[in-house]
Amino acid sequence: MARSLDTEAQYLKGVGSRFANAMAKAGLRTVRDVLYRVPRRYEDRRALPPIRSLKPGQFATVKGRITHFEGRPTRGGMVILKASVSDGTGLIELTWFNQPWIKRALGAYKGEIIAYGMVKEAQWGYEMNSPEFETLGEDDDPEEFLKIVPVYPLVDGLSQKTMRKAGACAASEYADLVQDPLPAWLRKQFDLLPLADALRELHLPSESGLGQKARRRLVFDEFLDLQLTLQIKRQNVEAEAGISFPIPLLESGGRITQDSPGNLLDDVREETPLWDQIHTMLPFELTGAQRRVIKEIFKDMATPHPMNRLVQGDVGSGKTAVAACAMLAAARSGYQAVLMAPTEILAEQHHANLVRLFESLGLEVALMVGKLTPNQKRQARERVAAGRAHLAVGTQALIQEGVVFAKLGLVVIDEQHRFGVVQRAALRAKGQENPDVLVMTATPIPRTLTMALYGDLDQSRIDEMPAGRLPIKTHWKLPSDRPAVYEAVKKLLVHGRQAYFVCPLVSESEKMLAQAAEDLHYRLSHYHFTDYRVGLLHGQMKAQEKDQIMEQFRRHELDILVASTVIEVGVDVPNASSMVIEDANRFGLSQLHQLRGRVGRGSHQSYCVLIADAQNDDARRRMEIMVETTDGFKIAEEDLRLRGPGELIGTRQSGNLGLEIADLIADVAVLDEAREAAVEIVKRDPKLMAKESQALLKRIKERHPEEALIAIS
Ligand code: ADP
Ligand code: MG
Repeated sequence: MARSLDTEAQYLKGVGSRFANAMAKAGLRTVRDVLYRVPRRYEDRRALPPIRSLKPGQFATVKGRITHFEGRPTRGGMVILKASVSDGTGLIELTWFNQPWIKRALGAYKGEIIAYGMVKEAQWGYEMNSPEFETLGEDDDPEEFLKIVPVYPLVDGLSQKTMRKAGACAASEYADLVQDPLPAWLRKQFDLLPLADALRELHLPSESGLGQKARRRLVFDEFLDLQLTLQIKRQNVEAEAGISFPIPLLESGGRITQDSPGNLLDDVREETPLWDQIHTMLPFELTGAQRRVIKEIFKDMATPHPMNRLVQGDVGSGKTAVAACAMLAAARSGYQAVLMAPTEILAEQHHANLVRLFESLGLEVALMVGKLTPNQKRQARERVAAGRAHLAVGTQALIQEGVVFAKLGLVVIDEQHRFGVVQRAALRAKGQENPDVLVMTATPIPRTLTMALYGDLDQSRIDEMPAGRLPIKTHWKLPSDRPAVYEAVKKLLVHGRQAYFVCPLVSESEKMLAQAAEDLHYRLSHYHFTDYRVGLLHGQMKAQEKDQIMEQFRRHELDILVASTVIEVGVDVPNASSMVIEDANRFGLSQLHQLRGRVGRGSHQSYCVLIADAQNDDARRRMEIMVETTDGFKIAEEDLRLRGPGELIGTRQSGNLGLEIADLIADVAVLDEAREAAVEIVKRDPKLMAKESQALLKRIKERHPEEALIAIS
């Protein structure tokens, strides 16, 4: 049979058809899958330490014979298994709790055993708790044990030994079939192993440290592919002609040179009719950060290339006002602007806000959301197509309902993490000229993630809250504290404030969520807050009902809003000064932060009460973080650490990142290098047309079909 990376994994020596199912279940269908399966760690067995020389606190591998084995029941009804292992120099006791299969494996075993774990001081000698172990059978080649061996993530139905055989065979017999898409200069510059060598060393490391170096190569490649799509996209956009909005800049003193693209010294002039309009339009003074970000946006808008900018700002930092200023600048120049939001509630809120702001300036705002009647949709489409509406606000319906713009100049996307790159591109494509794009996100994304996700965008941060805001006071309470919490909320209601109650996140099903919200609503309105007006909002309600409720709450015709997480993003009712979150430990930290951001929007002291029966250390730690800080970036980093990137940015996007081996937190240094490499590659070969780029291009298209479609077509 011809050798191929697509050969089924069961044909690897030492595997066989009896493991085919287990391999397939573990995602190991082909030889390629096995080659790219990264070991968890390596064990250097060339010189195993004598047991006598062990030090408490160190991780060590020991080899010896079991001299004594026993199982002992504990008072808690568990079973402790103990195996004494001797290598002639000393004795170490291995212990396992409640793992009966170990008794079957070792109870009567008389041969040698290898164990790995943390060495601890015991009453007489050493011990290891729950060590990993392997038995050395008669048919095992003793040579095998004088090597550095990979230890793979364990797979149901597959022993470490079988995995090791599969890896070794794939590495020695197939790795040479792998073509290296990276040019030699790049490998040299970033000290990367050739790909085939890396795959070989991954499974059969010839020296200590080489396994890690092999892994680094694979991580680098994953990051590189991602960064390349972003760099190419970025550069495509930069090269395109865009709209140069007539926004007056200060003359720069210096000359523009090749090295300083764009007028770095230029600044936006502030004494202009545009700024006069901004000041009359907004009912408040802009914060310094808002002003700075608006200027960054205006500078982009003034240049003849399309803007592609991400504005990050914590909840409540005032992103809407910033967007409104950009939209105003576009509209004044005779262009249309569009704002897309992830939910209907948000789109309508933006619509209401913008209508209020722009009314006096004679600018018209159209709304496009899914729930409109066909007739309303048609009218909105007509107003936009004829240019009668200067601004359009909506949900994804903007893309789906075939909206055509008369003269689109600016695209604003709110809460970007809910949308994919495809939607961004689709909306952008609605302009005849290349419109400017502004992406706004409230998710305070840690730097590592911003780079991984938005490397194609320039970035601005609104890192200051509007003045006069009192920091939200957060308390963590137990379920038994509810009566006191309700009394405290009542005191605020008496003073004319409003409150949110967020119901527990019972399950992913909208129906269950709705039920939970209804239950809570019933309890509060019938038992605890009988003198108050209590409304209910959840995802299963009809759009019209939702609006009505939201509008009533906004007009203070309701005192309390019981809600599922539909209020998570963007909802803005400054008079609401308290929020009680039930079962808070079920939510992610970033989600709690978003929820909490619904209060503290006005001048009143606001409170957030987390009701949680946090049972374990992790849950306690999470509640404590929420109490300690209102800094969204800190919370996001903690969330990332505790739960991984998928939770933070949505599974879809993290899948799109094409990262299987790389870890956004642990491998951040490699990410930096990969980004540098991507910049360098694109500088040499902007469209990946050169012959040496073809293999890389092919791989990118395989790994990032969606991105590649847009970036490299
Ligand atoms: P987010 O960044 O979360 O989208 P919003 O744009 O909804 O924040 O603004 C939050 C609240 O703060 C709104 O009520 C808004 O009117 C108000 N706001 C925004 N900027 C300022 C400012 N500079 N001074 C006072 N209030 C502001
Ligand atoms: Mg917002």
